[in-house]
Amino acid sequence: MSLSDHRDIPKAKRLVVKVGSSSITGANESNLAKLVAAIAKNIASGQEIVLVTSGAIATGLPLLKLLSKPDDLATSQALAAVGQSRLMLRYQVELDKYDLLAGQVLLSAHDLENEESSANAKEALGRLFDLGVLPIVNENDTVATAEIRFGDNDRLAALVAILVEADALILLSDVDALYDRPPTEAGANKIEWVEPLDDLSSIKIGSSSSNVGTGGAVTKLQAARTATDNGITVLLTSIDNVGSVLSGDRVGTWFRANRD
Ligand code: GLU
Repeated sequence: MSLSDHRDIPKAKRLVVKVGSSSITGANESNLAKLVAAIAKNIASGQEIVLVTSGAIATGLPLLKLLSKPDDLATSQALAAVGQSRLMLRYQVELDKYDLLAGQVLLSAHDLENEESSANAKEALGRLFDLGVLPIVNENDTVATAEIRFGDNDRLAALVAILVEADALILLSDVDALYDRPPTEAGANKIEWVEPLDDLSSIKIGSSSSNVGTGGAVTKLQAARTATDNGITVLLTSIDNVGSVLSGDRVGTWFRANRD
């Protein structure tokens, strides 16, 4: 279905919703319940949703009594291994309130590049939809190496949106929209609409303020381009707006899909 504006979001057949680590862990832990409540409401009215979630490493940190993200790959992988199961547990506890089941789908960059494994993933996701299960996707961090990985879940989410032929990809972070310079700077203007061929090179992007995730505005813009080039609408907003965006309110930045 082709979406024209925010009011079409709740009517779309299939959405991919992506949330970043800092939005659902640490001081922001309580956002996870809000996210699940909003998703559950749309699933109840017949929408198919894939949730792409980061936060395995961030969830593992306090469990393994570490204060910040380590530099070495093996410790990150160990943290992800511990954190991923706890993260899924947290999602399932919330989903129980709506009588929904989570289905964990861990993907590596290699899986989506490979024709056979990406076809398998597509089929599994389709069956999860048929069964009314919420697929929860993350990168398979324990097998990802520095050279071959999505790098950040923004890219993974865009590729999953393409794989499942989603109508829209909703990127949730800590900032409510795209601005022409870091929103903390005076005079920053919100960008509400982005057209497929808009040149975004003049946007001044600050560095990511989170010390638990890997993405930032740059990876979000790249993911938005990847998805819109493949005919998928992208909406960028904050986790605080999750209920509004899924109900069709006009929030965030709308990246119009390229239909050509
Ligand atoms: N897959 C990583 C995790 O769950 C996060 C990657 C990212 O920050 O986008 O911790």
